[in-house]
Amino acid sequence: MGKSSKDKRDVYYRLAKEQGWRARSAFKLLQLDEEFNLLQGVHRAVDLCAAPGSWSQVLTQRLSQNHAQNPQEQEPKIVAVDLQAMAPLDNVIQLQGDITKESTAEKIISYFEGELADIVVCDGAPDVTGLHDMDEYIQAQLLLAALNITTHVLRPGGCFVAKIFRGKDITLLYSQLKVFFPTVTCSKPRSSRNSSIEAFIVCQNYTPPPNYTPTMTNPLLDLHYDAANALVGPNRTIVPFLACGDLNGYDADRTYPLQTSYTSLDPLQPPITAPYKTAMELKRNNFYNKVAK
Ligand code: SAM
Repeated sequence: MGKSSKDKRDVYYRLAKEQGWRARSAFKLLQLDEEFNLLQGVHRAVDLCAAPGSWSQVLTQRLSQNHAQNPQEQEPKIVAVDLQAMAPLDNVIQLQGDITKESTAEKIISYFEGELADIVVCDGAPDVTGLHDMDEYIQAQLLLAALNITTHVLRPGGCFVAKIFRGKDITLLYSQLKVFFPTVTCSKPRSSRNSSIEAFIVCQNYTPPPNYTPTMTNPLLDLHYDAANALVGPNRTIVPFLACGDLNGYDADRTYPLQTSYTSLDPLQPPITAPYKTAMELKRNNFYNKVAK
């Protein structure tokens, strides 16, 4: 899809370029922050699945405001991680790696040098296959990997925010999150399309069970999803659902007419390496035709 057709269709895509955000996702974190005051008083943050970096931009902006208000506090520290390379951002420590890998978790922990983070955010999403059960399962595994890292780096009382796909097995995830956080809310920012299954889980006041020892072996990932379906009636975990973002503001599912004087802007930070680059090179070299013969 050409950038001008996306310009016509997606108001948050246009606004992101106008306001200097690397991606439209910035508005999701801004609207969650508006609703839950997530970034108030935050000095240390981890941004998991961060590329191209708009959430890191929001974190940088808000944490430097916090520091300006409280200069006696330590300088802000933000660690951002993604599978993809990310263009540099001032005052953000960047790490290229897979958050489901123990080695990545260890590096993140080492960057914090024994300190703990006030918040961990994760906007991670797998490449969707269109097979809903499979996509939801992989998304849940990514979220649990993020939770696993969180249990190592988050301070008690801290907050964890992550993208979630609200599928039929969501109850198991809610239950797992409630083991660590007394307050769990599922929220849908206005900038997230209604047509999308995505929402964000906002987990507040990190309180691990007594004597809980964080482990890198992902014990949470081994639970069987059949167990979730057994949770019925009053045993089902219910978490509050909250829409956020100004309801009179832009609707992510609507198309707004362009002003007559509108000129399309270039994206602020185009991808460094497109994920489909290798496939394109193979296609150019006729690889697929040779394999098919
Ligand atoms: N929050 C970002 C922003 O504001 O610019 C956008 C994140 S984008 C929706 C999802 C990201 O998740 C992709 O950049 C993808 O590379 C990353 N991702 C998916 N699986 C991952 C994994 N296992 N480890 C690290 N990053 C992963």
